[in-house]
Amino acid sequence: MSDPKPAGLATRAIHGHGLRDAHGSPHLPIYNTTTFAFASTADLLEVVDGRRPGSLYTRYGMNPGIVALEETLAGLEEAEAAWAFCSGMAAESALFLAHGRRGVVCVGDAYGGTLELLASQLPLLGIPTRFILGSELDRLESLLDGEGQLVFLETPTNPTLEIFDIAGIAARAHARGARLAVDNTFASPVNQRPLTLGADFVMHSATKYLGGHSDLTAGVLLGRREDLQPVWAWRKNLGTAIAPEVAALLARSLRTLVVRVRQHNASAQAIAEAMRAHPAIARVHYPGLPEAPGHALACRQMHGFGGMLSIEVRGDGAAATRVADRLRLFTLAPSLGGVESLVTQPCTTTHHGLSADERARRGIADSLLRLSVGLEDANDLIADLTQALR
Ligand SMILES: *Cc1c(COP(=O)(O)O)cnc(C)c1O
Repeated sequence: MSDPKPAGLATRAIHGHGLRDAHGSPHLPIYNTTTFAFASTADLLEVVDGRRPGSLYTRYGMNPGIVALEETLAGLEEAEAAWAFCSGMAAESALFLAHGRRGVVCVGDAYGGTLELLASQLPLLGIPTRFILGSELDRLESLLDGEGQLVFLETPTNPTLEIFDIAGIAARAHARGARLAVDNTFASPVNQRPLTLGADFVMHSATKYLGGHSDLTAGVLLGRREDLQPVWAWRKNLGTAIAPEVAALLARSLRTLVVRVRQHNASAQAIAEAMRAHPAIARVHYPGLPEAPGHALACRQMHGFGGMLSIEVRGDGAAATRVADRLRLFTLAPSLGGVESLVTQPCTTTHHGLSADERARRGIADSLLRLSVGLEDANDLIADLTQALR
């Protein structure tokens, strides 16, 4: 008999792990314990030596709730394996320490914490790190000058929503003996699954869409089982596994991930179209608009265009600040991916540390506002933007 058709994404988000507790609870309880008992030393060694799966110690991630969460996450990203961490930065740090020691090349704009880790901290350990913008992508091969390097990128990027060709860059990295890691935080696995396009690793700040309610901090790293094995020891000894309580909260959030992200996509598209027609807006950055530079590529590699967009207000940075300060439903806060809509002005927050010239080189106008479109009624969000732009 042939295997049943693999379940769809929403089904996997809800039934993604096969674990049940002794009472048949449809959701695993929180195993709020640091350690687990064994019947005998022989039995303990079976688990310690990896001859059978089992729970051992929560800092190792060997806790039923953490393992169930990781199975669900792996199913969503079509990965062989996943490790859950206490933050997105913890997942990234473990990735770079395990697989980036020969050097990391960061392509395009990236999250501020990522840029700081790569530019200021990994070099303290002797790890060479290099940066190229999307406009300099032809230099990629010249930077991949040794075996075993790691290419790291986000797509769509923050805050200009640039789209990178995951399959194309993966092939170029592989041809130089390097591997590709994609920060898939902005897209979420609902909109994009980089491992199916040739990436070797996917990383998420689960603090954003995966958690989705701005009430938890967590991270995930996914990939081939063999590649994730060395990362496990780093997570164990850095002590950065996710906590059981947070794992349960995140597992709860994943059950609604697909419906949430589809609504984020639809509302962001509606807002992008309304803003594009607004006389006080000079430019809208959203891959779902047909005129966006990354639109054709996004249509090929994404299943939805996401809930993030940026608008350039006509006028200077001060004009954009006035708009941000006048918004009522959009909360002024530097995060994304939650049920509530948020606004940030990159030149005053995420990209405040860069010089004006460097921001200009990256295409980040002072008049740019980044919107994380939440799950309020899209018409109310459009009305809020319209009153603030008046
Ligand atoms: C927030 C974020 C991170 C860092 O995640 P934390 O969970 O805050 O550690 C990394 N990458 C992107 C794209 C992010 O938005």
